[in-house]
Amino acid sequence: MRLIAWLLAALLPMAGASAADYAGPLFDAHLHYNEEAYQGPYPLPDVLARMQRNGVQAIIANSRPNDGTKALAEAREQTRAAGVTVVPFIRLYRSRADYTNWFRDESIYALVQQEYARGTAAGPYRGLGEFHLYDSANANGAVAKKLMQFAQKKGLAVLAHVDDVAVDLLLGHAPKARLIWAHTGISGPPVARVQALLEKYPQLMGELSYRPGLTCGDGALCPDWRTLLLKYPDRFLIGSDTWVNQRWDAYDGLMRGYRRWLGELPPDVARRIAWDNGAGLFQLP
Ligand SMILES: [Zn+2]
Repeated sequence: MRLIAWLLAALLPMAGASAADYAGPLFDAHLHYNEEAYQGPYPLPDVLARMQRNGVQAIIANSRPNDGTKALAEAREQTRAAGVTVVPFIRLYRSRADYTNWFRDESIYALVQQEYARGTAAGPYRGLGEFHLYDSANANGAVAKKLMQFAQKKGLAVLAHVDDVAVDLLLGHAPKARLIWAHTGISGPPVARVQALLEKYPQLMGELSYRPGLTCGDGALCPDWRTLLLKYPDRFLIGSDTWVNQRWDAYDGLMRGYRRWLGELPPDVARRIAWDNGAGLFQLP
């Protein structure tokens, strides 16, 4: 009996690992098309080919400066041919210098107003971000506060690279704003803390690129994260975070990695995290 139990324990993880990868559509909820990509080695046909061959059928598009997003939005024929729906977000950065000052810079608020009024060839902007707060206290910056309230008023989603303290501060300014927490906390707040924030804010979503502790060993889900995803299947999104060109280079592998652990989940849960949650946020067909 002991031997059988031991054999079962040894073989079960292998059975899990051989589960088929998720094969359905992907919603890339954290995509940048920055100038060093579109002016460099990743022109539009190249990035669309990467999305198409990976089954990425919709993207949250944002870029530094906003020209990359506009280029994606204007390429109606090419994106349609690639089967990619572009969900445009307004980036708050004209250059890298804006990363560390946007939350108190009135000219950034003016930029957002101007972009929002202009819209894109793919329709109105649907969100703000990604923005960064390296010091959570800056969530109380005058412009950060105004932008959260603007997003809430206009029904814009907000893609925010912030810590758990800043999630509380940002949603304190605009309790009904739809916040997408980039990386679900890149510094890896404990699963219990993530769960507490999901409970506290029903409109909070977690995007999973770079999330520490999500996968263990060979790309399989870590047990505590598997439990969390099963408990909140409607609250998570996947994303590439192509913040530097190397991420475009790695795009196929990143999407393969998602498909691998999504395949470990029940098919309906995998489909929600991979596609339905993002499609639902922006009312895609
Ligand atoms: Zn990013």
